[in-house]
Amino acid sequence: MKQLFRQKLIVWFKENKRDFPWREQANWYKTYLSEMLLQQTQAVQALPYFHKFISRYPDIASLAAAKEDDILTLWAGLGYYARARNMHKAARIILEKYNGNFPQKWNETLALPGIGAYSAAAILSIAFNKPFAVVDGNVLRVLSRIYAIGDDIRKAAVIKEFQRLADELLDTKQPGDFNEGMMELGATVCLPATPKCDDCPLRELCRAFKDKRQPNFPFKSPPAPKKNIKQFVLLFKNGQRLFVRRRPANGLLARMWEFPVLETEKLSLTKKELQKLLRKEIKLETEISVILNKMTHIYSHIKLEYVPVLITAEKGETEWSETPQKKWLSVPALEESALHGAHKKILTLPAFKKLM
Ligand code: SF4
Repeated sequence: MKQLFRQKLIVWFKENKRDFPWREQANWYKTYLSEMLLQQTQAVQALPYFHKFISRYPDIASLAAAKEDDILTLWAGLGYYARARNMHKAARIILEKYNGNFPQKWNETLALPGIGAYSAAAILSIAFNKPFAVVDGNVLRVLSRIYAIGDDIRKAAVIKEFQRLADELLDTKQPGDFNEGMMELGATVCLPATPKCDDCPLRELCRAFKDKRQPNFPFKSPPAPKKNIKQFVLLFKNGQRLFVRRRPANGLLARMWEFPVLETEKLSLTKKELQKLLRKEIKLETEISVILNKMTHIYSHIKLEYVPVLITAEKGETEWSETPQKKWLSVPALEESALHGAHKKILTLPAFKKLM
């Protein structure tokens, strides 16, 4: 069965693979870049980012030499910014420690920032033909259906079992095509809600198809509820410029830029109530100009609800002085900056645009 599985999958992949720029004249840098962009992101969404990055940073040396802020700016909108910072750090290590060559040993690859087992297996198999099997969401779906495995894929032990299964099935002579074939099948045929079983090369081998139980697999227990955070976002305005600060070096959205925020339990406050809160919490006497409507931004573990508040600031006081961690920027400069996504959304509001 394993041999038939490999053969059918690889023949299908070669005939049906989608055209992506990282598949044309493949080289390891393109594979590396695409795998960094594709983590947590669908290929279609990653595509414009791949074009932007490859034209601005065509090789590992130019990526390593880039400024972190420029990388974060180019990455803006893709989310999970730690990936961008790790990609940059890894580029420097590849250049300095490995003379610009990708390390091809499993442990060395895994030691690069931002590279877990999935990315290591993908890069080493696709770019260097090394026999490592990938297990991502697409592979989990295909394997759980083929073998009718109903164990909870939220559990690490279950993922380990799927990895063992994928390792056994891997075509060690063509590991790149096998891995890409598995992921491509999951992305285009073995779809989550409506698998196109009539087009599937593995139909005859599929237990879920045989039993008509495709929607039962894979099984994933409900996620833990998201933490709810409420904030006022303070848009301090002086002339045509707004005040931003850099976030701390660690944690969520590390080192990205943001407008100052004030956490609160209640977002529906009147101007007077908010004025009182600002006076109490941050000793601020300045006049509030406008309170905008509530906005929402969802992170993997957090639901952020926030209300932007426009405040006229008197520049000149010490807290408004510019330092490497604080700046006054115009709206066009903010649009080009590494301001994080939730706050960049504010710049697109018609009500905000009217005020600036
Ligand atoms: Fe998925 Fe259907 Fe193919 Fe089974 S037959 S692997 S359920 S697409």
